[in-house]
Amino acid sequence: MIKTANLQKIFTTEEVETTALNGIDLEVKDGEFVAIMGPSGCGKSTLLNILGLLDNPSEGSYDFHGTEVAKLSERQRAQLRKGNIGFVFQSFNLIDELTVYENVELPLLYLKVPADQRKEMVETVLTRMNIMHRRNHFPQQLSGGQQQRTAIARAVVAKPKLILADEPTGNLDSANGEEVMKLLSQLNDEGTSIIMVTHSPYDAGFAHRIVNLFDGKVVTEKMRV
Ligand code: ATP
Ligand code: MG
Repeated sequence: MIKTANLQKIFTTEEVETTALNGIDLEVKDGEFVAIMGPSGCGKSTLLNILGLLDNPSEGSYDFHGTEVAKLSERQRAQLRKGNIGFVFQSFNLIDELTVYENVELPLLYLKVPADQRKEMVETVLTRMNIMHRRNHFPQQLSGGQQQRTAIARAVVAKPKLILADEPTGNLDSANGEEVMKLLSQLNDEGTSIIMVTHSPYDAGFAHRIVNLFDGKVVTEKMRV
């Protein structure tokens, strides 16, 4: 389980202060699929980055599976992220100079997984994401849907307990978007927790619960019936 209390984030740039998060209390149980919605600028990506240990809050506490992480150093956060959290972004964020196979292998190299196990794990996930036939291609040679399936393969290859997705279908047409949502849904059915930011009510329909943000605050939460 993860749980935040009174999470705040204030950005200061050139003497302008922006309150991106203004007291977020959020609990996500293991195995849940939560969608975060709300207007542009309301703090969704900021929240996801903090939940994913990419950034620290300015105030408040964050219990990540029993560890208080709100004030960890960048290095400690990186250590805790490894193998525990997978990220999927709207713009895919693949490394252009690496092939599909090499992109997906990367988390396993960081985790120092032995070569023979790496090969098996990468091939399994590439097959599952229906991208095995493109393993020696570079990201720019793929369609958007194939790039996002590669990004999902990279996010899940180390079998993280939590996937964070920031508008994962934002750059995809509806058919490829639907395929990505089905893959995320299947991963959730197998026990992976998912927190997904989305502007799409259709995509949010795949989640168990929808959390609506407005001006850095949770305004409504509803369970999907
Ligand atoms: P969108 O739907 O457009 O992606 P969002 O809900 O994800 O929006 P955030 O990116 O979390 O919104 O931004 C929340 C607020 O914090 C905005 O006012 C934004 O300008 C500001 N902000 C975000 N990141 C930074 C930063 N690194 N430095 C300064 N201000 C920032
Ligand atoms: Mg955003």
